[in-house]
Parts: sequence; structure tokens; C-alpha cells
Amino acid sequence: MILVTGGAGYIGSHLVMSLLKRGEDVIVFDSLEIGHQETVETLKEYGNLKFVKGNLKNLDEIRGAFLGNRISAVVHFAAYSQVAESVNNPQKYYYNNVYGTMNLLNAMLEFGVKEIVFSSTAATYGEPEYTPIDEKHPQNPINPYGNTKLIIEKILDDYDRAYGLKSVRLRYFNAAGASSDSKIGELHEPETHLIPNVLKAENNKVFKMFGDDYDTKDGTCIRDYINVEDLAEAHIKALEYLNNGGKTDYFNLGTNTGSSVKEVFDICEKVKGEKIPLEVCPRREGDPAILIADNTKAKNILHWYPQKDLKYSVETAYNFIKSKS
Ligand code: UDP
Repeated sequence: MILVTGGAGYIGSHLVMSLLKRGEDVIVFDSLEIGHQETVETLKEYGNLKFVKGNLKNLDEIRGAFLGNRISAVVHFAAYSQVAESVNNPQKYYYNNVYGTMNLLNAMLEFGVKEIVFSSTAATYGEPEYTPIDEKHPQNPINPYGNTKLIIEKILDDYDRAYGLKSVRLRYFNAAGASSDSKIGELHEPETHLIPNVLKAENNKVFKMFGDDYDTKDGTCIRDYINVEDLAEAHIKALEYLNNGGKTDYFNLGTNTGSSVKEVFDICEKVKGEKIPLEVCPRREGDPAILIADNTKAKNILHWYPQKDLKYSVETAYNFIKSKS
């Protein structure tokens, strides 16, 4: 049985769906502060899913998820992930993300579970010194959110050396899209991400483009959008890798290609088949001009090959949004 923390959230729910479709037994541990009960109910239709509502800040609650369940590995998504909020309220981020993870690791050691796949982020690299970014790029996060993820990466190294706990740290670039059947997708409140914000824009809620004066081909920021089902697949590969005795390691998850905010906007207009109202606004603080992953390592070692392009991600995101309205 695989334990998925944050399995009712955006990326976690797509992994749970993939695991269930493969016939795996899954236990989701989620506080539902960000994740959704509705997502859990949808996921139950895909296989054997047990749900435990709990908070990682409470050691007994996470211990309760291990008690009586034969857990072979953990995939740990549960975290706060809003960069701006982390700057204004670092206490909330360190307490939840770092302390919460330490409770999870305590429970794993207590119950003898020695394999974990951890959701890390491109934000651990900070301001890029070069792109595409490979795993050798220095890690100098520029906000508390990135710091919490880097600290956990380091804790996991130390726990391997001392306790033999094996981990794969997956550094996501920009997750995009929804499930192919439109049943699950991105449901953040408030929504800060580009694709849902463009697709949900209307005349009384215009899309705000944060800056068109960057040093890029069209002046807007460039990001590497990786399809959420491709991301889920990378976690499956990481679990297989650990199960086959793979050593503790870390991998970038992206596509090796970048798309500008304008290019994403144009694809959204095409997919929606209508003009989307747009306002060019000042830059958003802390946004680097270009973030693109070098994914060679994940290809070579995990044998993970992203399959789905940006247009497909936008189409599935749009289908999901339509199904909710
Ligand atoms: N962006 C934008 N308007 C929005 C949301 C995002 O112009 O309403 C831009 C943002 O400045 C960045 C890119 O879209 O250049 C991707 O932002 P997102 O928040 O989706 O992901 P991030 O790269 O910050 O993780």
C-alpha cells in the first residue's frame, strides 16, 4: 500500500488516480485545508482508496495512518506552496512544511517504512545562473517556500546516511493541465497560476499579465510547463526506482522547452475559441525571466519521458474548468 500525503491536492490527486488505475492500494492523508473532499470522492471510483483526514503537524494523526496499514512507500506532497504568502508568513511555512515533514519521517522510522518520494521544486534553485537548469545548478532559494523545500531535501540526505531512509526528491517546474477524463484538475483558492487564470478570465475579471518588459523574445516570462499526468508518471517511475534498490537522488521534472506568458495566452485563446480580455500589469515580485528544466537525468536514470505538450495541458485544463461551471 502506498501512502500519499496531500493526495487530495492538485498534483497528488493525479498520482493517486494513476496508482489506482494500476491496481495499487492507496491511502491518502490530507488535512483538506487545500485539498478537496470532492476530489477524494472522485478518486474512490478508480480503485481501492482509503482516506485519512489529518494534519502532519499532529504526530499522532500521521501515526494513525500507519497503524494497521501495510505501507511500503510514501509519496509526500502535503505542503503550503504560495511564494508570496511564504514571504509574509514564514512561520506558517516552516512550521507546516518542515515540522510537518519531520513528523512524517518520525512515523516512517517508527513503522519501518524506508522509501519516500518527495515533492520538491525548481524554486530551490532561486535566480537561475543559466538555463536550462540541470541538477548541478546551485540551490539558493529566494523565498521561504523554496527554503522549506531545500531544508527538507537536506534532512532527507541526513536521514539516509543515519537511518537508511531512501528518498527521491522531484523538483517540479510548472505543473499544468488536468486529467485526460476531466475528472480532476487544478482547484486552488485563490488561484495564482497562469493557465487557470487565463482560462477563467472574463470581461469583469480580466487576465493580468505580470510584465511584458523582460529580457526575453517577446518581453514576457518564460516557463517550462509540464503536464500533470506526465508528472504523476514520474512519481510511479521514482517508486519503481526505489523499490528496485535505487539510491537516494534528485531529479528535475520539466520538458526542456520554455513557453512565454504570451504564447500560453495565445494557446488559451485558440483552445477557448474566443478573445480573452487582457491587461498588462507591472512585474510580479520574485519572478525570474526564464526557468527551463534540463530533464536529461530523469530520462537517463528514471526512464521518464514526458509525452504531453502544452496545448494538450491547456485543453484538459479547459475541459476541467468547463465541467466545474
Ligand atoms: N502570470 C501572469 N498572470 C497571472 C499568473 C501568472 O502573468 O495571473 C505569469 C507569472 O508572472 C509567471 C508565469 O505567468 O511569469 C507563471 O506563473 P505561475 O504563477 O503559473 O507559476 P510560477 O512560475 O510562479 O511557479
